[in-house]
Amino acid sequence: MHSSIAPRLTSKLPNVGTTIFTVMSKLASEVGAINLSQGFPGFDCSPELVGLVETYMRKGFNQYAPMTGVPALREALAQKTFEQYKVAYNPDTEITVTSGATEAIFAAIASVVRPGDEVIVLEPAYDSYVPAIELNGGVPVYVTLTPPQYAVDWEVVRQKITAKTRMVLVNTPHNPTGYTWTTDDLNQLAELIRDRPIWLMSDEVYEHILFDGRTHHSLMTHPELQERTFVVGSFGKTFHITGWKIGYCLAPAELTTEFRKIHQYLTFSTVTPIQYALADYLQNPTHYQQLPDFYQRKRDVFLDGLKGSRFTCTPAEGSFFQTVSYKAITDESDYELAIRLTKEIRVAAIPVSVFYHQKNDYKILRFCFAKDDAILQEAAERLSRL
Ligand code: PMP
Ligand code: GLN
Repeated sequence: MHSSIAPRLTSKLPNVGTTIFTVMSKLASEVGAINLSQGFPGFDCSPELVGLVETYMRKGFNQYAPMTGVPALREALAQKTFEQYKVAYNPDTEITVTSGATEAIFAAIASVVRPGDEVIVLEPAYDSYVPAIELNGGVPVYVTLTPPQYAVDWEVVRQKITAKTRMVLVNTPHNPTGYTWTTDDLNQLAELIRDRPIWLMSDEVYEHILFDGRTHHSLMTHPELQERTFVVGSFGKTFHITGWKIGYCLAPAELTTEFRKIHQYLTFSTVTPIQYALADYLQNPTHYQQLPDFYQRKRDVFLDGLKGSRFTCTPAEGSFFQTVSYKAITDESDYELAIRLTKEIRVAAIPVSVFYHQKNDYKILRFCFAKDDAILQEAAERLSRL
């Protein structure tokens, strides 16, 4: 007879539930709401890119890619990065293709963080950062960014740095607020970490989505920061292919060596025909050079639609998200309001409190404007009735 007692699994991530993106997208689809919650484009990627993937599949590029990524794609990334930022990464030793930025973020954190190490997290923060720190035994140390500016208070960061600080996580342009780093931010960070054993993970997945003439100040453009930074990118945001889950990490050789040890056993390698297709597609920079105008127009369609409403906001500086304050409308928590708006007026958004570890509720919702204009106009019209 079977008499043993089944062991109970103790979660390593006891506070983690289903991500808000899944929760809101599911609710939106159940009630037939316009889904401006989870961040993904509501339009398709280029048929040319699809054609390239098909071509490579038909040519038989269907087996494992090299662990580090196919050479043509690493070379195309090196060339693009040099043209854009004037920083040379060696495709053989400093560029790794990953299965989305999410994998690269995890591997970068795992490369550095050991049990007891502290990691500075500027919050609101993208939801994959803290679980990656905790699974590696690290301790998140939070610095709070507040509306309406969400700028980094460098004095607070200074106070949070200790002998145990091992990493600082950066995200510019920022999800969910759209805040984009300035050269002053880069200088302040460099000064704080100088002479300390601190590394950086810079999540730059929205590098091509900046508005009103702003420039993306990648951490790689500051030589002192570049030496210590894992720069993470994603093709998902740039080419409207979030479902393909393909990204990359640029980092100096010593960092990349460690990063690849982890990447090798997380996923080993990334989908082959898509890598070849992207290597070709990257040869034409207009594909991403047109993104700022394309998304700025969409941001403005949404903002124009909200003009007569009681929502207030500062136009997003970058990313494809707009945060909006509803203070003048209701006292409800942002979570309650997000659920109610989805069910009653059929527009889904993300409550920004979910990006803070203590669920700070500043009465702000995040809307994704990577949607067709007619959808944005209809959503704004519904929101204006509140
Ligand atoms: N970082 C940020 C800030 C994001 O917004 C996202 C996705 N929306 C990711 C990382 C993950 O990118 P990927 O889908 O390439 O894993
Ligand atoms: N990054 C996307 C967002 O912020 C969602 C990604 C996901 O669903 N995990 O909405």
